Amino acid sequence: MSSVRARRSETRWVTRFMPVFLAAVVGLATYTTAKRVSVDHFLHRRQQPSAAIAILVFYFITFALMVLTYIRLFLVIQYNPGVAPLGQRAIWRLEKEEKEKPSWRRHKHKQTDDIEANAYSNVGPDEDPDSPGLESFYSKDVFICETDGKPRWCPTCCTWKQDRAHHCSEIDRCVKKMDHYCPWVGGIVGETSFKYFIQFTFYGSLCAIVVIIACALCTRQRLNAGDGLDGFVIAMLATCGLLGFFTITMFITSARYALLNMTNIDYLKSKNFVHTLAIRVPRGTQSCEKYKVITYPISKPGDSSSQLPGEASRRDVASERDVLATRTFAIVKTDLGENPWDLGFYRNWKSVMGNNFIDWLLPIKDSPCSTYENNESFYEMGRVYLRVRERFGLPSLSEDEKGFTTSKKESSGSQPKERKQQKKKDQGQQDEVHGSANL
Ligand SMILES: [Zn+2]
Repeated sequence: MSSVRARRSETRWVTRFMPVFLAAVVGLATYTTAKRVSVDHFLHRRQQPSAAIAILVFYFITFALMVLTYIRLFLVIQYNPGVAPLGQRAIWRLEKEEKEKPSWRRHKHKQTDDIEANAYSNVGPDEDPDSPGLESFYSKDVFICETDGKPRWCPTCCTWKQDRAHHCSEIDRCVKKMDHYCPWVGGIVGETSFKYFIQFTFYGSLCAIVVIIACALCTRQRLNAGDGLDGFVIAMLATCGLLGFFTITMFITSARYALLNMTNIDYLKSKNFVHTLAIRVPRGTQSCEKYKVITYPISKPGDSSSQLPGEASRRDVASERDVLATRTFAIVKTDLGENPWDLGFYRNWKSVMGNNFIDWLLPIKDSPCSTYENNESFYEMGRVYLRVRERFGLPSLSEDEKGFTTSKKESSGSQPKERKQQKKKDQGQQDEVHGSANL
């Protein structure tokens, strides 16, 4: 058994077990707090109905919100985890593996084994200038790129990696704005689920605090009255103390990332990491000492220059149109630790948690950043982007070029609709593949 397969198999089982364990702990906590502490101890034994009611009210409000956010979080992780669509070569690889399987179970194991050694795995970036998905990058004004000006490439998913997407080795897929893999909540926490994760850890922390206070008060009164210890109450004190500490730490860490517009992955890299950006500059801008440039669409070998003098004027018009459709990008780097997506604490928080207080508290609306659509960039960029432009002295786009961009966008009036359809298609594919990954 390969170590990769062993680790993934182990992770799968832990991920199945953790939600059940959590449900058992919450069930025991509810029985202990409501029955043994509130009713038996405070109401019957101590004759303190106000204390019993206060504990019950605080407990069940936080309990209900915790369960609600957990269900929302769990469902989003299962059905809309925010994984990036697979590239064609990765789909072929999966289809090929599918055909080779003699039985369902064996096929699953073989797939996990083969994935590292398969001929389609670990392939380099697609060199085709018309590579699928490439246009979605250079139709923006800025995107994250490699030093050659092309977007980052995932060799396993065989696709260009959108800004802030990272490959998750546990589910073997690229995940948008990936934060971390969490067995406690059933899978990967990323762009679509981070808000609900913060809400769940918040209400989980409050619920644990209520249980700890109720159990501690009960224990103190029992000891003072010489009644001895209640095993259930002591067990809950220890369990909720441990889980509560863990949950509070997770909440503080996650809320901090939301305020900084970072993910766990960003944070781990932030100390010694610079981002390489492709920033759009006027057509015809040349490479210089400060930066290199790349022009999209990347021309095919022997393409435009093959035109002979005196050729038909129709070809000239077509050629001129092709030139107008090109986009030039300067390749520049941020300084160490700079975060291009930092919009300031308040706007960072709102981009994850929502635009008003109700959105922050209730798990209803998705994060605004997960539905962000803009022709400038994949995610809204802040002051660092402007600072980098200034630092490298990047020229602004001419009015003509801006005008061409606008008319191009206007002429393709169905673009937003097409993008929505593509998004739905991607979503369908995500669900389908994620479903198979969890078999
Ligand atoms: Zn990937």
